[in-house]
Amino acid sequence: MELIRDIYATKRAANRPLISFEFFTPKTEEGEGTLLEKTIPALAELKPDYCSVTYGAGGSTREKTLMLVDRIQKDHKLTAMAHLTCVGHTEAELGQILTQAKALRIRNILALRGDPPEGMAEFQKTEGGFEYSYQLVEFIKRMGGFSIGTAGFPEGHIACKEGKETDWARLKAKIDSGADFVITQLFFDNRDFFLFRDHMAGKLGVTVPIFPGILPILSAKQIKRFTALCGARIPAELLAKLEALGDDDEAVKAFGIDHATLQCEELLREGVPGLHLYTLNKTHSTTQIVKRLGLA
Ligand SMILES: Cc1cc2nc3c(=O)[nH]c(=O)nc-3n(C[C@H](O)[C@H](O)[C@H](O)COP(=O)(O)OP(=O)(O)OC[C@H]3O[C@@H](n4cnc5c(N)ncnc54)[C@H](O)[C@@H]3O)c2cc1C
Repeated sequence: MELIRDIYATKRAANRPLISFEFFTPKTEEGEGTLLEKTIPALAELKPDYCSVTYGAGGSTREKTLMLVDRIQKDHKLTAMAHLTCVGHTEAELGQILTQAKALRIRNILALRGDPPEGMAEFQKTEGGFEYSYQLVEFIKRMGGFSIGTAGFPEGHIACKEGKETDWARLKAKIDSGADFVITQLFFDNRDFFLFRDHMAGKLGVTVPIFPGILPILSAKQIKRFTALCGARIPAELLAKLEALGDDDEAVKAFGIDHATLQCEELLREGVPGLHLYTLNKTHSTTQIVKRLGLA
């Protein structure tokens, strides 16, 4: 399967945005079946450039993430990327996971530190493991053979008390450690993304592509929970609209498609290198957005 940095080079030469879809690892066998047999085949029709699969909190989905990425690549003939976190793993274990990935011809890794496991307030380094994701990036780079992605935070990472510019400088360090591209945390105000992108490229001289992560809103309750966890802001106007729609999830979903489409249209007009859509393992919103953008 192809390296994402090569896919990006081809898309760039053709002046086309790179489109990727993210899936989370389902908790149940039934969820896994639905993802593999219904959701992914439906979304594969949109011909994304690649798909990615998350790594569950606390390193809980080691086998599942690799298995799902392998199935996406083998059954659906789509390039896929495995997310990998430092949580609960020693360096030796991370090395084993990467060796296993290589054996499955998984060539793309999103290198993350990971969030603390449930019930733990702060991230704690595993003895013999890594404290920050730049160390995982360095480690994967030394192993060789992978295209490496890293996470970026347009509003600054929630745990970075020194301010967003400090967090962005740390992102620059991750890129300098060997990351080929950045995928951002969700955001709802494009101005946050443009400020971040211009700082990274203009002030810090970053040249790797920064792909905005777009989340189509599915329900007001869910989005409030997500943003509370990751620290992203819901702009006042958006919040007022969501409050007005209340628990009418169908109306919220339709509004979420409109909002994400408008967000993507502006991002594309402003020259982003691609779009990373958080599908939440659902087909409807992602399909509508990609079709409306004329990218299917
Ligand atoms: C696109 C995307 C996909 C994700 N997928 C997953 C997933 O699959 N599974 C999962 O568990 N989580 C996932 N996350 C969430 C992510 O793991 C968390 O946001 C996590 O808290 C930070 O990960 P990181 O890789 O950015 O960490 P880091 O880059 O290590 O940063 C973590 C914190 O440490 C600080 N820091 C970094 N370097 C230094 C340094 N040298 N000195 C002092 N402080 C430093 C940063 O400012 C930040 O506050 C994803 C996030 C994004 C944006």
